[in-house]
Amino acid sequence: MAKFKNTGIVGLGLIGGSIALGMKKRRISEKITGFSRRPETLEKAKSQGLIDEYYTDFDEGLDGLDFLVLATPVDIIKEYFERIKKHGSKVLVTDVASVKEKICREAFDLLGPGNSFVPSHPMAGSEKSGMDQAMENLFENRYVIMTPGSDTGEKNLESVKGFWESLGAKTILMSPSEHDRMVGLTSHMPHLAVYCLISLLEKEAGPETLYKCLGTGFRDTTRIGKSSPSIWSEIFMANRDNLCFWIGEMEKSLEEMKSLLVKGSRKELESRLKSLRTIREKADEKN
Ligand code: NAP
Repeated sequence: MAKFKNTGIVGLGLIGGSIALGMKKRRISEKITGFSRRPETLEKAKSQGLIDEYYTDFDEGLDGLDFLVLATPVDIIKEYFERIKKHGSKVLVTDVASVKEKICREAFDLLGPGNSFVPSHPMAGSEKSGMDQAMENLFENRYVIMTPGSDTGEKNLESVKGFWESLGAKTILMSPSEHDRMVGLTSHMPHLAVYCLISLLEKEAGPETLYKCLGTGFRDTTRIGKSSPSIWSEIFMANRDNLCFWIGEMEKSLEEMKSLLVKGSRKELESRLKSLRTIREKADEKN
């Protein structure tokens, strides 16, 4: 049986489009209503069957919804909370933003106590953007981190947990600051480190020859460097304090590697690489 009568999704890109496809496949909502920036996106989403109807006027569509998913870029989300507040809507809302402290602070301050916002961040995605990249199984077996506020109602929390679980995801709870610190390391920092790695290509002369020499390791590691600069610059800015902390840790790590190389002890280097490989293997087992 469908969990919701009419779910609104704002932003029908990779994440919003995948939610729409997943909800359709699993019949999680009787109806899906789309909202976006460009009318072409809405037309395409309707013709491809991701949504049943759409509104170009958010306020007009808001009234009929019993659930709303905000899947826009991070910097736009506040605007939607302002509109929800102004409209006086009490609709159950979640989001998918990759940073949580900023979003939760803005939303909870704006909406006040007893609000119906349950923040989420699915740990699923790719370097690709847009509706054409959407996948109906994107969230299957992936974690969704939820960061409820101190007065988030149990019923609302359970509804949003149930929503993600019906898309095949596993949910975990933490505070927004814990989320931003951890995800700063496990998601934001890899993107930043990859941009640094790619920037080394600029430093070597003769790029044409250099490009022919790119190893599989470079290609695999830097795949995420093809992600949207617009999405990632706003994520980096929104989590910059944590990123600056992790950059400091990365500098120490690079220094450690450099000193092992300078010392010239292969045995010591191999032992360090072995312990790091064990940590990486454990990460697969525990996921
Ligand atoms: P995306 O593929 O670029 O899609 C973004 C969508 O937002 C587009 O459909 C765009 O609409 C729409 N949009 C932009 N401005 C808007 C506005 N003012 N009003 C309404 N819609 C607007 O981006 P994405 O990768 O899905 O990322 C969306 C969110 O998911 C971000 O908050 C990101 O932090 C989070 N996230 C991303 C990943 C990932 O791996 N990509 C993973 C987890 C979470 P038009 O098509 O009409 O221009």
